[in-house]
Amino acid sequence: MAAVQLENVRKVFEGGQVAVHGLTLDVKEGELIVLVGPSGCGKSTSLRMIAGLEEVTEGIIRIDGKVVNDTPPKDRDIAMVFQNYALYPHLTVYDNMAFGLRLRKVPRTEIDREVRSAAELLGIETLLDRKPKALSGGQRQRVALGRAIVRKPKVFLFDEPLSNLDAKLRVQMRTEIARLHKRLKTTMIYVTHDQTEAMTLGNRIVVMKDGHVQQIDNPMILYNRPTNKFVAGFIGSPAMNFLLGTVDRRGFREESGIFLSLPPRHKKRLTKYVGKKVILGIRPEDFWVGGPRNRGIRVQVEVVEPMGNETYLYFSTAKNGAHHVARITASETPAAGSTVNLQVDMTKAHFFDPETELAL
Ligand code: ATP
Repeated sequence: MAAVQLENVRKVFEGGQVAVHGLTLDVKEGELIVLVGPSGCGKSTSLRMIAGLEEVTEGIIRIDGKVVNDTPPKDRDIAMVFQNYALYPHLTVYDNMAFGLRLRKVPRTEIDREVRSAAELLGIETLLDRKPKALSGGQRQRVALGRAIVRKPKVFLFDEPLSNLDAKLRVQMRTEIARLHKRLKTTMIYVTHDQTEAMTLGNRIVVMKDGHVQQIDNPMILYNRPTNKFVAGFIGSPAMNFLLGTVDRRGFREESGIFLSLPPRHKKRLTKYVGKKVILGIRPEDFWVGGPRNRGIRVQVEVVEPMGNETYLYFSTAKNGAHHVARITASETPAAGSTVNLQVDMTKAHFFDPETELAL
């Protein structure tokens, strides 16, 4: 178990491509931190620099207080789990898991104890004699996890380990990784592009975009107090709705004519934006159907998606066809094509500056 610190870490690839612009991050001992962001945001490169698989262009990386910039991967005391499992096809599950320990000349009885104990932890005791090709995706991923566990590393690094699994298995393995973390209490750094995975796994989450950190916070703060429009739109599914409009003394007006009055808290906060353009952000769950016609917004429902316990309603507002989605209780489900009155919980509204996209 060890802390991992990154100080202004930059990565510039040959040809000048800047993949990471000055990443500063303090991963505490025993923490499970998730790096999340869309494809190309620099999360894998960051992880690979921690692993030692990619050289650091500038900045410092410390593991357990020791600068490791020039330490080869094998001496960093880390274990990495990849998306493609990277198992040896010609070796059995047992030998795949024992491989690293044999290289380190660990005594045979100790190897046997570690392999069987990890196999039990992961529920793969009965598969030890099989070769990887005779395993399902989920089982292969467990073997890859087992191989990492037996090495008792100071830090686990995960690079999209569940991307190759089907949706159901992904959810199951996600819970297993969370359980594993609780049990082993080892520092874990986990990379994913999937915001749900990030939200459900991370003690803290680092949201990245174009090689820049956007926000580092715990899941609830990211969700409730995003620092900018990107984080607001990236975290949460379905995504937050954005409406461009103007603030006046009473409320927010979209050019389509939609008017939403502002609760006192927001009025005060937006005083200096009166007469100016702002972006209003509304989470899908902050709508509900009904209420007085002279309040809320009247919309024509374009698409209805029943999810069982709730329903997603898709509609447009502005003339430019800004598309929105509301998450409503299943019993309120209207028909596609019908016109409904939607109320908005404006106490939960978010506001962003249209130019800087920062939260107001
Ligand atoms: P993904 O989820 O698609 O793997 P990512 O967020 O992990 O994306 P990285 O793989 O870290 O992103 O890549 C960050 C940026 O660096 C991208 O623009 C990518 O094209 C670039 N990049 C990655 N590896 C190299 C390389 N070897 N040479 C040049 N550019 C690279």
